[in-house]
Amino acid sequence: MSRIRSARRLASIADSVFGEMTRLARLHNAVNLSQGFPDFEAPQAVKDAACAAIQAEQNQYAPPSGTKAFRDAIAADYSRRYGVRLVADEQVTVCCGSTEAMLASIMSCIDPGDEVIIFEPFYENYGPDAMLAGGEPKYVRMHAPDWHFDEAELRRAFTNRTRAIVINSPNNPTGKVFSRDELQVIAELCQQWDVLAISDEIYERIVYDGHAHVPVASLPGMADRTITTGGLSKTFSVTGWRIGWAISPPALTGGIRKLHDFITVAAPTPFHDAGVAALSLPDTYYSGMRADYQRKRDLMMDILGRHGFTAYRPGGAYYVIADVSRFGFDSDFDFARYLVRDVGVATVPGSSFYAGPASAPKTIRFCFSKRDDTLHEADRRLVNFTKARGTDTA
Ligand code: GLN
Repeated sequence: MSRIRSARRLASIADSVFGEMTRLARLHNAVNLSQGFPDFEAPQAVKDAACAAIQAEQNQYAPPSGTKAFRDAIAADYSRRYGVRLVADEQVTVCCGSTEAMLASIMSCIDPGDEVIIFEPFYENYGPDAMLAGGEPKYVRMHAPDWHFDEAELRRAFTNRTRAIVINSPNNPTGKVFSRDELQVIAELCQQWDVLAISDEIYERIVYDGHAHVPVASLPGMADRTITTGGLSKTFSVTGWRIGWAISPPALTGGIRKLHDFITVAAPTPFHDAGVAALSLPDTYYSGMRADYQRKRDLMMDILGRHGFTAYRPGGAYYVIADVSRFGFDSDFDFARYLVRDVGVATVPGSSFYAGPASAPKTIRFCFSKRDDTLHEADRRLVNFTKARGTDTA
């Protein structure tokens, strides 16, 4: 075999589905409820700060770990809200999106042969990140309708080879907000087995129905064994800026920064200033955003209910998983393809959030971080689905 080929370790890694669904949405002129990005405006003050930074010649490399002002703002905001003390210089690294923060965290902490526990369904990057590091993902299922996990199964997943567990709360794709009790179980297991928690908290500000986000690092005994990733993308509707961060115990920060420096050098400079502006928005920004999203969540649930989907109400993030097993399609991919092509609504097939798609429940994910108009248009298009189904099943 020629040596001019992709590395073998990529063979077991599937292509990302999100970008592909957005491509299909464009191709079929469909309402795009697939990839998780808002189709509404980012806050004006945040955009103004980015433009001002460009005009003020903030256009060369930023310090690799992030500008001091931005790192300080991230640390101050996190400490204020969660009561976790942070030293920005030693613990905060600004990355190109929390996706890079996650990769740098996993790559810098996982050795070949280490096991990494991942809750399933999961955001698609964690498994590939672990495999790129030479680690072995080990999956623990969460079950609808409330996406609980079986504590005994989780206990069994921990072994002498376990190096880390990835937690994502509020969760993509399920919208589950892990309770303090659930996190406490995880925290005790981490301490018992001397395991690192890597906590993706990108949706930390998007919670509904009085749910509270509990950062893993705030639990007793966890600050020194938790890396938290977060970012501007979801909270401030700037997914294209690629600004995220890792908050790490000082002992792990050097490794993360080393990798980050080699992967991307630094995150785009003008957005560090914009990040400072974002994190100084008043609390009313966040309460307004939460109220808007909760209303959109309710609208999405209403739409799905009226069109015959069994949908699981999310407590946070901006996605809804809906069961599609009874619609007679061979797979969720077939169903998602039908929906984007024939009905004009793009979604993400649920099995792409599972390691073994064959054993995944047949579901699709709807993203509702969209203008009300967009959601109403999806509603109108789904009427065709309801009609077609009426004929099919008659
Ligand atoms: N986080 C977003 C989602 O889940 C986008 C992911 C991506 O494009 N890789 O849809």
